[in-house]
Amino acid sequence: MQNLSYVDPQADSPWGTFLAQVDSVVPHLGHLARWVETLKHPKRCLIVDIPIELDNGSVAHFEGYRVQHNLSRGPGKGGVRFHPQVNLEEVMALSAWMTVKNAAVNLPYGGAKGGVRVDPKQLSLKELERLTRRYTSEIGLIIGPDKDIPAPDVNTNAQVMAWMMDTYSMNTGSTATGVVTGKPIPLGGSLGRVSATGRGVYVVGRTVANKLQTPLQGARIAVQGFGNVGSVAASMFVDNGARLVSVQDHSATLLNDQGIDVAALVAHTKATGAVAGFAGADSIAAEDFWNVSSDILIPAALEGQITEARAAQLKTKIVLEGANGPTTPAADRLLKDRGVTVVPDVIANAGGVIVSYFEWVQDFSSFFWTEEEIYQRLDKILLGALEHIWQTHVDLAIPLRTAAFVVACTRVLNAREERGLYP
Ligand code: GLU
Repeated sequence: MQNLSYVDPQADSPWGTFLAQVDSVVPHLGHLARWVETLKHPKRCLIVDIPIELDNGSVAHFEGYRVQHNLSRGPGKGGVRFHPQVNLEEVMALSAWMTVKNAAVNLPYGGAKGGVRVDPKQLSLKELERLTRRYTSEIGLIIGPDKDIPAPDVNTNAQVMAWMMDTYSMNTGSTATGVVTGKPIPLGGSLGRVSATGRGVYVVGRTVANKLQTPLQGARIAVQGFGNVGSVAASMFVDNGARLVSVQDHSATLLNDQGIDVAALVAHTKATGAVAGFAGADSIAAEDFWNVSSDILIPAALEGQITEARAAQLKTKIVLEGANGPTTPAADRLLKDRGVTVVPDVIANAGGVIVSYFEWVQDFSSFFWTEEEIYQRLDKILLGALEHIWQTHVDLAIPLRTAAFVVACTRVLNAREERGLYP
């Protein structure tokens, strides 16, 4: 194997984590193992410079990325993240997890991801718009409704998608609603998209809890990250009888054994932007979050949060991955030995991209579905995929993550083989 010259991944870094996950699937791929190196080589990585004029008249440059990891099964698909620590290696891993996620739930997509190395909280709305438009223009070479379709991720939302759609449309002289998903409803967005990821986390979590005979009534839930994924998932668990005992975000770690009033916390974070200062819970040290006793722990923030050291302390039954790549390979092994069930990101948080797929299909046909139709179809795809992965996990006696990779990588590499190498 030829290592890539442009990254030097550590074992616990995002790309290092992905490579270890690919290695674990190889023994289960049969003759398709011949093609596995494909997964370790992103098809295309674009790095762009984004110069913008700041409100004070000075010029600032930001680094942007769009990585298309694999396009064997369809156009690229995956979000765009704005974060000060974004780098090429992280975007590569996130794009690779999109390849696996899209194949695990059998969407007709490859995998892609984008990012800009910026702290959007430091920008005014106008600066954010200029940044988004210039980034879109720069990656305009490789995106498009049938090439690669961005969507929201960490720190991006429907407004950012509206600017991306408009910029791409201006550049092509069209109204290309299908170029991004997660748009505002009047611009071709889909009902249910905003809550889809959190809803999927809940639906998958409920089903796994049921299989493990863990009743949701009174179940203790701990959530890291209280954004679009964590807050919706937590609310749905609470609405269905569970108790939210701990929440952590970048600002604070909260604990309330009696159960946090989740609606009040959502209102507090809407008003203040973070969980810090919420009156209905005690504040504890950040590291203590990892030994709060729970039935279901939902990492819904960034990668690499459940390290080996933290995995050794966890007091939970189920780790339900709302975030992408939150568990390192060493932690995965330890949790398996400790009998903790890890429900991997590529199925647990796939609800978002499934409804993105519905949005793209609705845009193509210019015919829009009801919320009821969307949720019905979402649950059907998600639970069908979970069942397939669960059966593979039982039949091959392998962890759920490896099972999801077996299902997904078999689909990707089958497509790769059938298409054949060009030339
Ligand atoms: N950013 C989301 C994810 O990580 C959704 C991507 C999409 O809808 O394309 O799955």
